Amino acid sequence: MATRHVIVGGGPAGMNAIETIRGYDANASITLISGEPAYARMALPYYISGNVPEMQVMTGDDAYYSRLGVTTKFGVRVTGVDSASGAVKLSDGSSVGYDNLLIATGSSAQKPSILGADGAGVYNLWTIDDARKTVASMKSGAEVAFIGAGFIGFIILNAMYKLGAKLHVIEVENQVLPRMLDAQGASLVRSWLNQRQVTSHTGARVNEIVHNGNKKTLKLSDGSTVQADIVIVATGIKTNIDFLQGSGVKTNQGVLVDNHCRTNIANIYAAGDVAEGPDLSTGGQAIHAIQPTAVDHGRIAGANMAGQHIAYPGSLLMNILDVCGLQCASFGLWKGEGLETTITVNAVRPVYRKLIWKGDKLVGAILLGPADDVAMLNDMGMIKGLIQTGTALGAWKRHIEENPTDIRRPYVATKTAEKLLALTALGKPAAHRAYRSAQDTPKERGAHAVLVGSKG
Ligand SMILES: Cc1cc2nc3c(=O)[nH]c(=O)nc-3n(C[C@H](O)[C@H](O)[C@H](O)COP(=O)(O)OP(=O)(O)OC[C@H]3O[C@@H](n4cnc5c(N)ncnc54)[C@H](O)[C@@H]3O)c2cc1C
Repeated sequence: MATRHVIVGGGPAGMNAIETIRGYDANASITLISGEPAYARMALPYYISGNVPEMQVMTGDDAYYSRLGVTTKFGVRVTGVDSASGAVKLSDGSSVGYDNLLIATGSSAQKPSILGADGAGVYNLWTIDDARKTVASMKSGAEVAFIGAGFIGFIILNAMYKLGAKLHVIEVENQVLPRMLDAQGASLVRSWLNQRQVTSHTGARVNEIVHNGNKKTLKLSDGSTVQADIVIVATGIKTNIDFLQGSGVKTNQGVLVDNHCRTNIANIYAAGDVAEGPDLSTGGQAIHAIQPTAVDHGRIAGANMAGQHIAYPGSLLMNILDVCGLQCASFGLWKGEGLETTITVNAVRPVYRKLIWKGDKLVGAILLGPADDVAMLNDMGMIKGLIQTGTALGAWKRHIEENPTDIRRPYVATKTAEKLLALTALGKPAAHRAYRSAQDTPKERGAHAVLVGSKG
């Protein structure tokens, strides 16, 4: 009999698992249960700024699921897991049996307890529904206040900047992007924002949002106030694990998984934001809450659910962000004992590059500079590659310390590109992915396919 795989959650982790399972097993029964339609949250900012239509946020059309042979149940939620009998309970009262279960339920935006935060015009901007509401309420020249200056808040801020909104950022910690940049990098981001009339308040808490008709006044702990038409709350995430109570699945902040993305119960796996999985840099378990880790997890879990035995060393934490034209990136470890640093800084341009070493290996980096700057475009991927492969740089370490923008030579000399190619998650190159929506298929082959495609 065909193995019954049940996938809960249609985000990137769930969808990558489904495609991977199908790649190994043409006959498996696959059921996708998701409270929302399947889409990529990461695409929401492009929809908000008008760069892509809503359809391109969606993962695929009905024809795609039927081609994949997947039974879909959208708009229903899993409310419980009976791991003894191997069944999930659904919000419509029904239940679905499984041989293998994947928990890919992602995370939700945290809701801070601020007086007035449940009023009109205050959004989390986490779901497609939130995005639709925000787009509908955005008027030209709108004033938008962000509570929280983290990665997600700044991604949305950048989309709103493109729309010409007047922006304010309020952050309780003493710097912007506290989990992505160090204090020096963050101060350059703050000046950059300042020059673009984006005001930032750090070390300040929002105590209350007062609604006066459509206008809002945010009262801050430092005694100042901020006026806004729209308030975006981006104060962190919480994993969607409540429905696992009583299931026997072990959780911490998220669902604990091993290097096969398997939980403590042999036929239950977890992937993506909800999973606390292997971290490449620390060797411990972490919640990354980023798309690349969700994709890694989905592929590893999917392969193992399909009967493979694939362990992986863990995902690299990485955040790459455009802040109103200033490119910011951080990779791997950049805090901790016994680490050395090589810092290059030009506060005027501004450029800030901090390379973090453990012995002769690069273990982390913070890179910051104008998006069109050659120092940003040229070697960000190479630095990430050196970190990801754990390449011992030997004498090249000295070369980089003396010439911190010449990454290319050590990268080539240490054959890091070859090492990266060998690091395929599933031990084989990724298959070419067909278009997932008929409306979205280009009529003509693009320049990229013509230039690099192997067939005419
Ligand atoms: C606005 C925004 C911008 C972002 N931009 C970036 C970026 O630029 N780069 C980056 O790396 N990351 C970005 N992220 C983060 C990235 O989108 C997430 O890491 C990624 O979506 C995680 O994928 P996932 O499949 O684990 O979970 P999700 O995408 O959250 O999908 C989980 C799905 O499960 C469903 N679900 C939850 N509970 C249940 C239940 N009980 N029953 C049934 N279904 C359920 C949810 O409705 C959801 O559809 C962004 C996130 C947001 C919100």
